[in-house]
Amino acid sequence: MKVLVTGGAGYIGSHVVKLLGEYGYEVLTYDNLSTGHKWAVLYGKLVVDDLADRNKLKKIFEEFRPDAVMHFAAYIVVPESVREPLKYYINNVVNTINLLEVMEEFRVNKFIFSSSAAVYGIPEKIPVPESARLNPINPYGGTKATVERILRDLSNSGKNFRYVSLRYFNVAGADPEGKIGFAYPNPTHLIIRAVKTAKGEFERLYIYGTDYPTPDGTCIRDYIHVADLASAHIVALEYLLEGGRSDVFNCGYGHGYSVREVIEATKKVTGKDFKVIEAPRRKGDPPVLVADNKKIREKLGWEPKYDDLEFIIKTAWNWEMKQKW
Ligand code: UDP
Repeated sequence: MKVLVTGGAGYIGSHVVKLLGEYGYEVLTYDNLSTGHKWAVLYGKLVVDDLADRNKLKKIFEEFRPDAVMHFAAYIVVPESVREPLKYYINNVVNTINLLEVMEEFRVNKFIFSSSAAVYGIPEKIPVPESARLNPINPYGGTKATVERILRDLSNSGKNFRYVSLRYFNVAGADPEGKIGFAYPNPTHLIIRAVKTAKGEFERLYIYGTDYPTPDGTCIRDYIHVADLASAHIVALEYLLEGGRSDVFNCGYGHGYSVREVIEATKKVTGKDFKVIEAPRRKGDPPVLVADNKKIREKLGWEPKYDDLEFIIKTAWNWEMKQKW
């Protein structure tokens, strides 16, 4: 079975490529290396190109003839999306349409999409089920909700197109074997910032908002280990290959931690104390995001292995300590 992976050189994509390779899938990574790295692609061929280049994409489909496509390539930084919405809509939506059109031309009809909990905005119910109303509160979430809408329409069009959309909660940690991990410039995500601060790369860690309606006033997120997220992609792929119908699944553990709890756990795991500054809220942050993960467990049989905040931080820390920058 052949799988074309866009963004396979990036943080999440590279962990999925590794697992696909271990499972014996033939993989081709299509990545413009804007944030990804050649060394992160542990299996299969890497084609360095952009999804905006439709002719190049066609050539690759013609040569590789994938059975399915996994689409990770996207911009992911919420605050940047608030400042640069068009940049986000062009890369995350327009380029996805390019990819879907080429898939249609080559009759490739199985698609796995990297969606996000950001599609929910501020959920009415926590843990949030997939059936909740989509109401993104930032452009990043808007791009993911827009693509989900397109996928639904395509799936209902009678063209035999089937997809699984995986709504990621807060992905963190690194490959437990230490071969790959996060490695993009100017990281903004909490656990990465925290371990880099523990390492001394940043002088201090800011807490963005301490007046949220949560027990300790800081935002709560459902942190999921990147290797567990990778295994969710494998079960989703198997589901589609076995003829499963289009569907949407949350990817999270079903419980969350506050920013303060993550900071305390980071200090404990790393054995380092560091300066923490309480700062104003960041734009576009919902107070609490926790997944209801019953559906993916029951329907796809997904079983997470690393539901442990300290383990997540430990793998992130081990990875970070191996890096020169
Ligand atoms: N956060 C923080 N300091 C940081 C980075 C993030 O206080 O240096 C907070 C952020 O405001 C949010 C939570 O940590 O409440 C998770 O943010 P992150 O950027 O990791 O993920 P997001 O939920 O925005 O995708």
